[in-house]
Amino acid sequence: QSFEQLNLKPEILKGVVGMNFRKPSKVQEKTLPLLLMNPPKNLIGQSQSGTGKTAAFVLNILSRIDISTPELQKTPQALVLAPSRELARQICGVVRLMGHFMEGLVVDAAVPVDASQRGRKIEASVIVGTPGTVQDLIKRRSMNVTKMRILVLDEADNMLDQQGLGDQCSRVKAMLPKDLQVVLFSATFPENVVRYAHTFAPNANEMTL
Ligand code: AMP
Repeated sequence: QSFEQLNLKPEILKGVVGMNFRKPSKVQEKTLPLLLMNPPKNLIGQSQSGTGKTAAFVLNILSRIDISTPELQKTPQALVLAPSRELARQICGVVRLMGHFMEGLVVDAAVPVDASQRGRKIEASVIVGTPGTVQDLIKRRSMNVTKMRILVLDEADNMLDQQGLGDQCSRVKAMLPKDLQVVLFSATFPENVVRYAHTFAPNANEMTL
């Protein structure tokens, strides 16, 4: 299988080529046809880091966001939650690289607001952050979530391991529109993760490598 066969938009394909990806990795080959389906379906994917899962969920996001007007370019449409700020920053970098040829793409890493920034609005179509910070930004109305269409949880097992992160993810999700594509990746699927994953991503297709 090739990236060309996935019917990606030309500017996205250019980004993929620019990153020197020649063909989809196994996890991309398995998840992308499903992720890109219309109407969108929820997905629970098993994947270790290093298998190419970041590109899989990023390509889905870039394919689905609508940045055809300046207003839409500033409107959050996809949100990625990750267990650490470092990982969030890395994911942000991948979105920028893959979306390099998409005119008007704005990506923002959600960072905690300090007193001096209160009232600052996040104006990006793709947002990546840790659950606590994102929850805080939505509550403070620093992030407009009315047009949010995709929610990705990366390393869901790691988030559930850490005190309160799973709860924060659920609270964030509760503040988003109901019509949402939920994509969840986890390296392992112990009982508690499986249960959580299925309530978080209802009727999701499961993909194991
Ligand atoms: P990840 O599992 O998302 O952390 O990705 C692991 C590494 O694989 C990253 O350095 C990616 O740049 C690289 N990678 C992901 N997909 C591909 C691909 N289709 N071809 C070549 N390298 C890839």
